[in-house]
Amino acid sequence: MKIFENKEDLKRYVLEQKADHKSVGFVPTMGALHQGHLSLVEKARKKNKIVVVSIFVNPTQFDNKEDLEKYPKTIDNDIKLLEGVDCDAVYIPTADEIYDGNVKSEKFDFDGLEYQMEGQFRQGHFDGVGTIVKKLFEIVEPDNAYFGKKDFQQLQIVKKMVEKEQLNVKIKGCRIYREDDGLAMSSRNVRLSKEHRAEAPFIYKVLKKAKKKAKKKSFTEVIAWVEKKFKKNNLLDLEYFVIANEKSLIPATKKEEGRVYRAFIAVYAGDIRLIDNIKM
Ligand code: AMP
Repeated sequence: MKIFENKEDLKRYVLEQKADHKSVGFVPTMGALHQGHLSLVEKARKKNKIVVVSIFVNPTQFDNKEDLEKYPKTIDNDIKLLEGVDCDAVYIPTADEIYDGNVKSEKFDFDGLEYQMEGQFRQGHFDGVGTIVKKLFEIVEPDNAYFGKKDFQQLQIVKKMVEKEQLNVKIKGCRIYREDDGLAMSSRNVRLSKEHRAEAPFIYKVLKKAKKKAKKKSFTEVIAWVEKKFKKNNLLDLEYFVIANEKSLIPATKKEEGRVYRAFIAVYAGDIRLIDNIKM
């Protein structure tokens, strides 16, 4: 596996592969890799001749300084894991290499997708995401790029950016990987206290029950039920539970024929913020 720290070297490598008519699959990550990340790499592996992974904890998408500073870093282990799934190249840039001394986001218009859910609670988050994904796409110029549905709103936003900026890359959404107890895998899970880790599977349990309830009850009733469940939980604090149209991400209070809905949740387990979602 090749390791690149410099964008010019990576660009040259990718160009050589493309000159050889090899398709390039790309998986952007912030490292502290787990099986969820590796599943994206494996999917890219199956569909492309060359797989490139980036590891970069992007400062502009963090609205919380402490969350950025405490973001787990396990680079040696990440490299071992990527070698194990037959990744061809990993790009590990510094913030200077990416931002050239100007750590700022570009402003994007994602047709309103950016104002819902995470956009309401994490100021500037999606401008940061758009900025880094666009920069990485310019460097890697992949044919296909793989994103997890774990961050469903991010996936929709990246698709929107590609459509609006007419970028020549196909975006592939990949299923959510979970621990055996149902907790969605996340790099932040290692920061949970023992007590919070034991309680965290409650989030997916509630999502699954909410999905079941939504077959017979209105969305408003389901939302009230979820809020009540979390009020009774002393360890987990609900930030939001929203049922939204999967495409527009606009919150829905009642079902309309022919529309697809998804429930989105953000929860604090102590200081650690966890998100998850489920198709309704
Ligand atoms: P991150 O390193 O958290 O920025 O995530 C990098 C990519 O991995 C994003 O596209 C995430 O949506 C995806 N991802 C993170 N956790 C999971 C998971 N549990 N299942 C599937 N994809 C995931």
